[in-house]
Amino acid sequence: MMPAHQVALGELRRNEPMNQHVTWRAGGRARQFYRPRHREDFLEFLHARPAQETLFLLGLGSNLLVREGGIDATVVQMHGALKEVTWEEKGCLRIEAGVPAPKVARLAARAGCAGAEFLAGIPGTMGGVLAMNAGCYGAEIWNFVHQVETVDRQGELRWRTPADYDIGYRSVCLREECRKGVEEWFLSALLRFPAGDAETAKTRIRSLLAQRVADQPLEFPNAGSVFRNPVGDYAARLIECCGLKGKRIGGAEVSWKHANFIVNQGQATATDIEALIAEMQSRILAEKGVRLHPEVRIVGERS
Ligand SMILES: Cc1cc2nc3c(=O)[nH]c(=O)nc-3n(C[C@H](O)[C@H](O)[C@H](O)COP(=O)(O)OP(=O)(O)OC[C@H]3O[C@@H](n4cnc5c(N)ncnc54)[C@H](O)[C@@H]3O)c2cc1C
Repeated sequence: MMPAHQVALGELRRNEPMNQHVTWRAGGRARQFYRPRHREDFLEFLHARPAQETLFLLGLGSNLLVREGGIDATVVQMHGALKEVTWEEKGCLRIEAGVPAPKVARLAARAGCAGAEFLAGIPGTMGGVLAMNAGCYGAEIWNFVHQVETVDRQGELRWRTPADYDIGYRSVCLREECRKGVEEWFLSALLRFPAGDAETAKTRIRSLLAQRVADQPLEFPNAGSVFRNPVGDYAARLIECCGLKGKRIGGAEVSWKHANFIVNQGQATATDIEALIAEMQSRILAEKGVRLHPEVRIVGERS
């Protein structure tokens, strides 16, 4: 057992294996790991920790590769901690950062809202979805954001609107004039969805999920699409054209089912996965002249 220390209400652990917290089921350890009990506990934790301590916010780890050398920071897990959902008014949901995206899809559908169905198959938290501008099937989360609530390392809270951010394909960046050198994290979001029909939305969720089961290798640990699609093309098409499906390094394999997925065949290390990413990039650059950029975030130290 790792030594555990009580801080505020949650549990602060040392040397936490991050492979238990990322969907690739691979990778190194976090120097410290904290899962708050709830929002107030998280804010208290921010105040209590030394100002120089680096924090890294984690959702469900569904877009993360943690290198084998681990994360030299305190990882704070929002999933299971900031989990409140409230209706502010009809069509407007306030969602805390740790709420899983599929839950938002189901709640919105049940309430007769339209447009949230795409969230059903994204296995991340609202915080991760906001940070990535996650989306699929023609929709992305920031299309529906009315406001977001943020907090910085000093614990200062702010409400922001989409106009404060540069928002693009799988990217969201606080504008420099708003940021002033300070990092902010998402605490909650106010989302607005147009009125729709509950049965239509539920049917669409079922059909989108069935499509994912048919197209994606969900039977193996993975992190969704590894690369962003280049302008006017698809990363999966380029990878398949280069004959890379089934290409393997250690326990990491380019999926036979979806070429833009790398699956963990059981014993993959983060080093295997990163080496496979680099191999795919260099083959596609050499053979197609296209530089692919990872959509997954690669963090931590090399071993
Ligand atoms: C099977 C599968 C299918 C997927 N399909 C899609 C898809 O269709 N479309 C799509 O866009 N993505 C998809 N993904 C990728 C992933 O689910 C999304 O990127 C998701 O938004 C990540 O959320 P997370 O909570 O897991 O974030 P994490 O992986 O935990 O973190 C991702 C980044 O967000 C940051 N972050 C997390 N929480 C916060 C916060 N509260 N405030 C600020 N930053 C934060 C982290 O620091 C990190 O940099 C898929 C992944 C899998 C495994």
